[in-house]
Amino acid sequence: MTNGMGNKSVVLQDVQKSYGGLPVVHGIDLTIEEGEFVVFVGPSGCGKSTLLRMIAGLEDVTDGEIEIKGRIVTDLDPSERGIAMVFQSYALYPHMSVRDNLAFGLKMARTNVAEIDTRVKAASAILKIDHLLDRRPGQLSGGQRQRVAIGRAIVRKPDVFLFDEPLSNLDAELRVSMRIEIARLHRELGNTMIYVTHDQTEAMTLADKIVVLRDGRVEQAGTPREIYENPENTFVAGFIGSPR
Ligand code: ADP
Ligand code: MG
Repeated sequence: MTNGMGNKSVVLQDVQKSYGGLPVVHGIDLTIEEGEFVVFVGPSGCGKSTLLRMIAGLEDVTDGEIEIKGRIVTDLDPSERGIAMVFQSYALYPHMSVRDNLAFGLKMARTNVAEIDTRVKAASAILKIDHLLDRRPGQLSGGQRQRVAIGRAIVRKPDVFLFDEPLSNLDAELRVSMRIEIARLHRELGNTMIYVTHDQTEAMTLADKIVVLRDGRVEQAGTPREIYENPENTFVAGFIGSPR
């Protein structure tokens, strides 16, 4: 289910990033609708993570504006943006139980104990990790750890989920099953999701809209079908694997 499709969720206006005067993201304009699953895809080093981290507020923009749900968030802290990010490295606290890992962000935000409990239960049910709540991350498989990392995002009830190559540490088989899980989550939660990957198959199977990046620029944006059937140039065709 996609809620509120047709409303703007995330809007990037001429977003730029330079490191030491060297531009790595060049003036990106992009509008993402509420409930849309958008995938940023492109070769290593093309600026996918930098773009996502600017949306998250983990990285300042050099120029441009970022709007989330009608609010300019360009100068807001990550915690004020209504987003939650899931990393490739899971970034779980090894000395805490799964339950405490899930609850940690909410405790920091001073959410009341009963509400934390309700949200942890709901998220662990959705992700089928209810039986793992008393374990520590070291006692989990890679796939289970990634579920906990996603759970930690879900409990925060963000408007927008940001994923940075969340499956790239998993083996091929697990990657496929987690990909299906993430698609299911999107259907069930209905949130806007922005997902970074260098994997064309992930992009083609998950996305409502694919944004193909190269050297910090958008080469093409469109539905998987549009991009596959009508690639605008040989780079896009080659990267997506179109038959031409
Ligand atoms: P991707 O996620 O697509 O692999 P990144 O966004 O990580 O690409 O990086 C884009 C470019 O910016 C790369 O050339 C990278 O070396 C450079 N870069 C990323 N972070 C920094 C940083 N903190 N300092 C300097 N250069 C950086
Ligand atoms: Mg990256």
